[in-house]
Amino acid sequence: MKVDEKLGRNVIKVDKEGHIMVNHEVCRTECKPKYCVFVCPAKVYSLDPQGDIHINPDGCLECGACVIACMEEALSWHYPKAGFGVQYRFS
Ligand code: SF4
Repeated sequence: MKVDEKLGRNVIKVDKEGHIMVNHEVCRTECKPKYCVFVCPAKVYSLDPQGDIHINPDGCLECGACVIACMEEALSWHYPKAGFGVQYRFS
């Protein structure tokens, strides 16, 4: 079974409040490498043509890699509230 197929079995209950916040000003002015775009296995982060970060936290796997990778501390991240977030169905 491929990784995408395994990830496709997960269930994610989205909390409308969101659990990831981005300080876009810091991203824009302080961060050139945009590591979050490359380390996130769920492709939560993307760059628009102007180079600004966009997030789609609905697929977050709660691994925490983005917070570790963000050298400028531009991300605010916490686990989703109880009852929300990812439920792994294939270990
Ligand atoms: Fe992506 Fe992991 Fe960060 Fe979620 S916690 S946005 S899956 S890198």
